Amino acid sequence: MQNFRVVVMGTGGVGKSSIISKFMNDKFTEVHKETIEELHRHQMRFDSGSVEIDILDTAGSLQFPAMRKLAIATGDAFFLVFSANNPESFEIVKHLRDEIKEQKQKGQYSIVVVANKTDLDIEENHSHAVTESVVCMDWEEKFITTSAKTGDNIECVFQALEDKIRERMVNL
Ligand code: GDP
Ligand code: MG
Repeated sequence: MQNFRVVVMGTGGVGKSSIISKFMNDKFTEVHKETIEELHRHQMRFDSGSVEIDILDTAGSLQFPAMRKLAIATGDAFFLVFSANNPESFEIVKHLRDEIKEQKQKGQYSIVVVANKTDLDIEENHSHAVTESVVCMDWEEKFITTSAKTGDNIECVFQALEDKIRERMVNL
């Protein structure tokens, strides 16, 4: 069976683990559990057969450049997650995106940019995080706003991944 690895990246607390948990188990918890590094396995069915999806939930270790490099090297796709009420978390996504583009060859990876926590009231002084995220629209990547809490658009993130895999299969 073909295998495809998704690396979920973004600074701590933006909701990476929550997005995965909501998608895999339809569960959301308010309690923030520090993730070490977790691998989740999911299967997607395509006309030409099933693909095994390994979803790597990353955590603090990715602050080390060498660890980031390794995660980027092994990933076929990347979910770059930030929190809609946190401008700094969007800056991190920009940096991660630059690093991926520097390290990988075009056509060898897919990126989905995710603005999470859209259920929160975005205060005036934070609203530029979302405005800024419109920058993503100019990026060639897919941009999706989600809430792991309400489940809003969580399916869309994985649907986008499915579409990207399908595109890649055609190109093989
Ligand atoms: P991670 O460090 O990126 O894996 O973040 P977590 O998934 O552990 O989430 C960090 C905190 O944010 C937890 O307290 C979650 O309950 C909360 N959280 C995650 N996603 C959402 C969301 O969409 N809306 C709200 N309101 N809280 C969220
Ligand atoms: Mg986590």
